[in-house]
Amino acid sequence: PLILGIETSCDETGVGIVRGQTLLADAIASSVEEHARFGGVVPEVASRAHLEAMVPTIRRACETAGVKPTDVDAVAVTSGPGLAGALLVGVAAAKGLALSLDKPIYGVNHLAAHVAVDTLEHGDLPKGCVAMLVSGGHSSLLAVEDITDGVVPMGSTIDDAAGEAFDKVARVLGLPFPGGPWIDKAARDGGDRLYVTFPRGLTSQRDLERHRFDFSFSGLKTAVARWVEARRRDGEDVPVNHVAAAFQEAVCDVLTRKAIDACKDRGFEHLLIGGGVAANSRLRAMAEERASAAGIAVRVPRPGLCTDNGAMVAALGSELVRSGKAPSPLDLPADSSMPITEVLNK
Ligand code: ATP
Ligand code: MG
Ligand code: FE
Repeated sequence: PLILGIETSCDETGVGIVRGQTLLADAIASSVEEHARFGGVVPEVASRAHLEAMVPTIRRACETAGVKPTDVDAVAVTSGPGLAGALLVGVAAAKGLALSLDKPIYGVNHLAAHVAVDTLEHGDLPKGCVAMLVSGGHSSLLAVEDITDGVVPMGSTIDDAAGEAFDKVARVLGLPFPGGPWIDKAARDGGDRLYVTFPRGLTSQRDLERHRFDFSFSGLKTAVARWVEARRRDGEDVPVNHVAAAFQEAVCDVLTRKAIDACKDRGFEHLLIGGGVAANSRLRAMAEERASAAGIAVRVPRPGLCTDNGAMVAALGSELVRSGKAPSPLDLPADSSMPITEVLNK
């Protein structure tokens, strides 16, 4: 089936088109530059930008894919979680499209879509796997048997998300927003990851008893900020590349350790990584290295598919259609706090 997917949960207007598990188009318009000077996404600005970008982005996706809207078999859209006003624009557009084409609509979970996107690169998901979802708003370990039936949360962050920590530390270091890619780059440009040892949250024996599969990045963020402040107070230069590398090392160390432990706990031989932070080069390398030592295979989509896009929504829609799931009602709402356990809005 030919599926068109619409994503507007944050600052990216994404429209993806897939046929089965084949990606035909992934058109994207971003308002990230309009938010940069505020150091974070401004919801009102994002909604307006989605409204302006929606129709041109749908057109561009159809042109790239070489299809007409009337060829589409089903429309998929992010119905949550995300910014309420931003989601509404995508949901309204998807409803209009589905109604005019007389085709079913699938209101899907953005987080499950971050997992399902891997099908476009590596085919069917493993029969059982741990999915580590690391993005701007979430950091979770999920047990996934069949993504179209839902996910079982194993643990999540108790404070900041991994991407949020990247963005906040980048700010402390004077790097642009969003900070993740800049920290990645600074670290790669000769950063010494052993320069400082920053704290690894929730890894002590005592914490592991209660929080074996949970994360905490807020203490790490504060530790980096304190370290940088102390340097500045002493009138010394802050070695941005080294601090970026050492911070990134702490995040990746905890993420990969717990993800592999989660695989062992479930007896799964596959680890899937998704979400914006999965684009991180050190995380990808470390996960590969540690997982292979443990006999676990890592699946992570290419960086461009890790950050928000329309293809991931189309990919999840396609899996739902292929597994014969009933569509959402045409009056489906946007649900800004859609729970991670809910894959499809019914
Ligand atoms: P959510 O998916 O939780 O709703 P979101 O949609 O805003 O949040 P994504 O687009 O999935 O998040 O991810 C954005 C986050 O990924 C940002 O915090 C960004 O800094 C981070 N990120 C992107 N590229 C990298 C990278 N190379 N290294 C580390 N972090 C990165
Ligand atoms: Mg974004
Ligand atoms: Fe996302």
